[in-house]
Amino acid sequence: MLADFHIHTSRCGHASGQMVEYVREAEEVGLAQMGFSDHMPLLHKVDPSLSMSLTDLAAYVDEARDMAEIGWIPVRVGIEADYVPGTEDEIEQILDSYRFDFVLGSVHFIDEWGFDDPRQLAGYEGRDPHEIYESYFGLVLDAARSGLFDVLAHPDLVKKFAILPPVDLRPYYEEVAKAAAENGLAIEVSTAGLRKPVHEIYPSRELLEICRREAVPVMLGSDAHAPGEVAYHFDDAIDLLESVGYTEISVFEQRQRSALSL
Ligand code: ZN
Ligand code: FE
Ligand code: FE
Ligand code: ZN
Repeated sequence: MLADFHIHTSRCGHASGQMVEYVREAEEVGLAQMGFSDHMPLLHKVDPSLSMSLTDLAAYVDEARDMAEIGWIPVRVGIEADYVPGTEDEIEQILDSYRFDFVLGSVHFIDEWGFDDPRQLAGYEGRDPHEIYESYFGLVLDAARSGLFDVLAHPDLVKKFAILPPVDLRPYYEEVAKAAAENGLAIEVSTAGLRKPVHEIYPSRELLEICRREAVPVMLGSDAHAPGEVAYHFDDAIDLLESVGYTEISVFEQRQRSALSL
């Protein structure tokens, strides 16, 4: 039984399709459950091409709840929140204002730099990849320890453009897995990386193996930004999960985690 808990909507300004199309697709491909997790309004900058505005958040939640009422498959209502240091209190206030079923914690920014934004690729020039990785994983650890999130989304997103530092990444992976375990977080296994220059699932096999050893639960996500991307290449994710020894995936309701057998 599969579930996709990383699904966007056109409200974020860079995804296509109506919510109902995502739900229909999820039902048609045979998912047992799905979860919407559109981008939470950015708190450190305003950019309508990156997220909805705060004034749209209530309508997003309402529409997603309506999707659950259709009765095709269980639809959970979540959000993908950016971890940006200094905005923790604001994030908490927003999360407290809505009863989300789950909250994905993501790192998309190093300081002001959107390192995963194709429009900001120039930021890689003049930066040392090792320092980028150091900053990125430092933020992921802070996100894990913040107590704000249920899941670390695409935990090694920093590899997206395949600009890798010539260092052993294992020490970072060990820290991320331990921080997830200690703080009761799941990590996302995201097939979005297969659509990106790195052509690899997030996280890498090595990071996933360490998560398995640390008994970190996994959530499965496509990071769909179009209805046709729901459950994108989930067969590859299942192969990876099973080869690493996972037998179940996590689903969420009212911020409680439960497991589906693969
Ligand atoms: Zn997005
Ligand atoms: Fe993301
Ligand atoms: Fe996303
Ligand atoms: Zn994402």
